[in-house]
Amino acid sequence: MIRAGIVVTGTEVLSGAVTDRNGPWLSRELYALGVEVAEIVIVGDRPSDIEQALSLMESQRLQLILTSGGLGPTADDLTVQTVARHLGLEVFTDAELEGRIEEIVRPLRARRGVDAEALRAGNSKQATIPRGAAILEPVGTAPGLVIAAGGPGRADRVVVVLPGPPRELQPMWRQAVDVEPLRGLLAGAETGQLRTMRLFGVPESQLAQTLRAAQRDGVRLDLLEVTTCQHRGELEITTRLRDADAGIYGAFEEMMAATHPEELFSTDGKSVDEQVAALLSGRSIAIAESCTGGLLAARLTDVPGSSRYVRGGLVVYSNEAKVALAGVPQELLVAHGAVSEPVAAALAQGARSALDAEIGVGVTGIAGPGGGTPQKPVGLVWLSVAGPGQQTLTRSVRLPGGRAEVRERAVTVAMHMIRRALQHQRQGVAAA
Ligand code: ATP
Ligand code: MG
Repeated sequence: MIRAGIVVTGTEVLSGAVTDRNGPWLSRELYALGVEVAEIVIVGDRPSDIEQALSLMESQRLQLILTSGGLGPTADDLTVQTVARHLGLEVFTDAELEGRIEEIVRPLRARRGVDAEALRAGNSKQATIPRGAAILEPVGTAPGLVIAAGGPGRADRVVVVLPGPPRELQPMWRQAVDVEPLRGLLAGAETGQLRTMRLFGVPESQLAQTLRAAQRDGVRLDLLEVTTCQHRGELEITTRLRDADAGIYGAFEEMMAATHPEELFSTDGKSVDEQVAALLSGRSIAIAESCTGGLLAARLTDVPGSSRYVRGGLVVYSNEAKVALAGVPQELLVAHGAVSEPVAAALAQGARSALDAEIGVGVTGIAGPGGGTPQKPVGLVWLSVAGPGQQTLTRSVRLPGGRAEVRERAVTVAMHMIRRALQHQRQGVAAA
C-alpha cells in the first residue's frame, strides 16, 4: 500500500479548542483508496513547526503528504508559503485565480462592508501559489493545491494542500483525487477495505479469547489488521484488509457469528440506531424516562424521519410525575420503590397508553453519585419494553462509571432491548 502522512495545522486544534476532524476523515477516505496513513501530526500555525512536520514525513519516505488548514487570507495562514519554501518552489500570484477569488468574495464584502484594500491584499495572498501546482477550486474562498514533489519529471511523491474547515476540505478532497499527479499516484494503489462488526454484551476479555480461538482454528487473523474498541457500551471490531484477503475476513465473520450469535448485532457497519429506525418503520413508540431524563427520546429522534414512529416521551423524574403522567400506581412506588421491576414495567405500559403507541419503553435507575443503597446501588437501572403485541421485556443492569456514563449506557441498553423486542417479534411472525 501507498503510505501517507497528514499534517493538521491550526493553533486552535493544537490547543484543544477545536477537535481535529480532518485527520480521521482523510484517513478513512484514503484507506478505501489503497493508501495507509502512517501518521497524523497536529501542529500550530508556526511555519517552523509545519516545516518540521513535513521533514519528518519525508524522512519516513511517505509518498503522499496532506496538509489541512492555514489557507485563509490573514497573516497567520502560512501553509502555502511554508510548503513552497520547503519544496524549493518559487511562488507567483496567479491573476486568473485572483479574479475568481474576487468574484467569490464580492458578495461577502457588500454584506459586511469590509475595507476594500484589506480585501484585495487577502485575495492576492490566497492567489499566490507555487509554480507548477495544480489548483483545486475554492469551496470557501481558499484554493487548494496538488503539488508534484518528487523532483523534476517525477510524480512519485505528492503534496496536497487543503483548507481547514471540514465543510470545505471534504468536497475539495473529492475534487483532488481526480487531479494529476494525485490521480496517477492513486491509480497504482492496491485498494483495501475497512469492515466493522459490532457486539453488545460481550466483555473485551471474552472477545480476546474468541480471537485466540479463531487463530487456533486456522483463521489467518495475522493477515488482517484487527482493532477492537469499546464504544458507547458496545464492542466495535474494525478490520482493515486487502481485497485479496476478503475470504479470510468472511471466515472470521462466520466464526464470530457462531460464537456470539446473540451479541453480534451488526456486520455491515450499521449502528443500533439505524437498525432500530428500520425496525420501527410502520410502527409507533413512546417513552417514559426517569434517570435518563429524556436522553432516550433524544437518541431516538436523532435519526432523520423519526417523526414517523416516535409518538413522544415523558420525563417523569419525581414520583408524582410518574403517577400523574405515566399512570404508575402509587402502591407500586410505595411497595417496591421507584427503581424496581414493577415500576419499570408500569412506566413502559404507561407511556404506551398515555401516548397511544404500539411500543412503550420505561427506564428508571440510580445515576448517582448519591442515592445508592446496598440493595439498590448507584448504576442499577431497570428497563422495560412493552410490545409490540403482548410481549414485555423487563430487565435490570448494573452499569459502571459516573453519572454521565450510567445515563448514556442506560440509553444504549434500552436501544438494544428495543431492537431485540422488534427482532423477536419479526422472527416469531416468520416462524408462525
Ligand atoms: P479560513 O479561510 O477559514 O481561515 P483556513 O484554511 O485558513 O480557512 P484554518 O484557519 O486553519 O483554515 O481553520 C479555520 C476553522 O476551520 C477553524 O477555526 C476551525 O473551526 C475549522 N477547522 C480547521 N481545522 C480543523 C480540523 N482539523 N478539524 C476540525 N475543524 C477544523
Ligand atoms: Mg485561517
